[in-house]
This record gives sequence, structure tokens and C-alpha cells, in this order.
Amino acid sequence: MSSKPSKQSSSRYREQSPLKSICVFCGSNTGMHPEFITTAMDLGKELCNRNIQLIYGGGSTGLMGALANSVLEGGGHVTGIIPRGLATPEVAHQKIQRMELVDTMHQRKMLMHEYSDALIALPGGYGTFEELLEAITWLQLGLSLKPVGLLNIRGYYDPLLKQFDRSRSEGFIRPEFGNLVVSSTLVKDLIPRLQSTTLPHSTFWNVD
Ligand code: AMP
Repeated sequence: MSSKPSKQSSSRYREQSPLKSICVFCGSNTGMHPEFITTAMDLGKELCNRNIQLIYGGGSTGLMGALANSVLEGGGHVTGIIPRGLATPEVAHQKIQRMELVDTMHQRKMLMHEYSDALIALPGGYGTFEELLEAITWLQLGLSLKPVGLLNIRGYYDPLLKQFDRSRSEGFIRPEFGNLVVSSTLVKDLIPRLQSTTLPHSTFWNVD
């Protein structure tokens, strides 16, 4: 990792202020089943209902596009952050209120993190996995005090959650970090749970 978010507080516990902006990682493809798209759109509506801004990767395709369009249709606010090299008219969303161009993927992820109060992964591919796992790692290291959730639509993330259990039982994930991710199958459930979750007391890691 060439860059990292700044430490926000000496406390490991997040202040319970309302979430104002949420970063969503999700596929640049739609996936095969319509439920992936409808859930991305439901999440967009839920963000609008709760007056929460969307922060995302700025794409117009796949679940990214469906989510951003749903927020725009609901009258919400969308910020996209995209590396210059990806910012072609075919790939970058042309209608969101704010698009920030950055030089590298690392800058993008750092800004997405910085602008958000919480992070959510919908189904996606390598890009989404990478973003999700980096967010979890930053939480484990205490570099971030922002809750991380995932929407486990159609059991998409069951194998990954199983892998986390395996890593814990094999001694690669410490027991206290075994449940770092708030996982839900329901859009309506996830945001309140992220709001109320207690973040880990990350005293083991000394990263500075
Ligand atoms: P993937 O899951 O591999 O489709 O990658 C999706 C994630 O990677 C998103 O959360 C984006 O931040 C980033 N990403 C991948 N492809 C694109 C794209 N075409 N436009 C913008 N962001 C993308």
C-alpha cells in the first residue's frame, strides 16, 4: 500500500453520529441474476431515504451504474472518484454531481475512504474484492474507524465469509478480528447495523 488514511482519533470507538456518506464498492458488471441489479437500486433508494450521499468509483457500467442512477433518480447526491486513465466517456458516469479525477488507484481508494463514514460492498469481481479486503485490513490495523459492511445477495459472499471463519480457526485471523464485517442479506437492515456497530479495539497492532 503506497498511501494510507490518516488516523482519526486516539479512541478505537467510533462516535455514534449519523452516517452522512457511504462508499459502495460493487461490480463494473451486473452479474447474471436480476436480483443483483434490483438490490443495487434498492440500496440507492435507501441512501436517498436516509439522506446519505453516495461515494463510489465513478463508473457508469454494471452495478456501479445501476446504483448511481438509482441515487440520482431518488434526488440524492453522488460523488465519483476515478483515475484519469479510466475516465473515458464510455466508462465514467456523465451525470453525477461531482466527479474527482485522480492519478492512481491508490489515491482513488484513499479518497473514497476519506469521504465516507462507512463502506459497503455489493457483489462484484476482483476490483470489489480488493477494495473490500483493503477496507477490512485498514479497520483491523486501526488505520480506519469506519464500519465495513457487505450485502450478501443470493449468498454471493458465503464462500468468502466461510474463508474468514477458516482463517480464524487456522490461526491467521485473531479471534477478536473474526467479525470485522457486518454482513446482511437485507438492504434495510444493513445501514442501521453499520450505524450501531462497535469497532474493534485494535491494540495488538502497532503500525506507526
Ligand atoms: P470489479 O468488481 O472487478 O468489477 O471492479 C469494481 C470495482 O473496481 C469498483 O468498486 C470500482 O471502484 C473499480 N472499477 C473497476 N472497473 C471500473 C470501471 N470500469 N470504472 C470505474 N471503476 C471501476
